[in-house]
Amino acid sequence: MTQELALGVIAGLGTDALAALQHVRSLGVPTAHIGYPAAMDNEAGVGEIEAARRATGIEITTVFCSFVGESYADIATVRASVGLVPEATRAIRVKKTLKIAEFAHKIGVARVAAHIGFVPEDHSKPLYAPMVQVTQQICDALAVRGQVFALETGQETAHGLKRFIEDVERKNLKVNFDPANMILYGNDQPISALDVLMPWIDGMHCKDGRWPTQEGQLGEETPLGDGDVDLRAWLKRLLELGYRGPLTIEREISGDQQQQDILRAVALLEALRRDFGH
Ligand code: MG
Repeated sequence: MTQELALGVIAGLGTDALAALQHVRSLGVPTAHIGYPAAMDNEAGVGEIEAARRATGIEITTVFCSFVGESYADIATVRASVGLVPEATRAIRVKKTLKIAEFAHKIGVARVAAHIGFVPEDHSKPLYAPMVQVTQQICDALAVRGQVFALETGQETAHGLKRFIEDVERKNLKVNFDPANMILYGNDQPISALDVLMPWIDGMHCKDGRWPTQEGQLGEETPLGDGDVDLRAWLKRLLELGYRGPLTIEREISGDQQQQDILRAVALLEALRRDFGH
């Protein structure tokens, strides 16, 4: 059982689970979200991940789905390419999601998450009903193994996402709340959105960013604490609402700067947690 408000990072296991989880440990956090390590989806890989988890004590709290052909270049491209929205790839991506969930189960992870793409806010749009149906299909397949399916926030308003979740009507449908995405997509305020989505929030990406300045473009991601999220007020509200799950740091750059920004984020979140008595 994870400690309350355990910090975490997003880790790619690549082909060396032990090295990856040792790296997570070196950042001073006890949990991680991972992407789907296709190269390790076999008996040897699953054994290696188990051994790496035992050796490092790192808990993998979520396996994240992503799909071939997705691009986050600008809003129109996200709309056309991401998640379960594009009709041409929907069936194959649902199948892949189920495969990832099966793998997650093998490595003892009960939470699978994804950007499913822009769900239309308008229910009468032809895309809306099929999105409800495929999400039901995924939730039902995961429920058999006691897994939850978490939707990454940002591509809808909080109220739009709430209505969608209510329409899907599955108890194991949850929300992975990413406050920066709300801002980067110019869709909603990350603090008031907590009030709307709290009943379903079971995980977090601690990420920051600035509002878009150009029509059709995403805003700019920043190191945690430097963007428009208002991290202190956001975390305060989250704790007031009773959230005690993991706080998983996301920084979508690579290299040394990413590591430095993550270490700074760890220190920042630890300080805020202490300030708020946790
Ligand atoms: Mg995220």
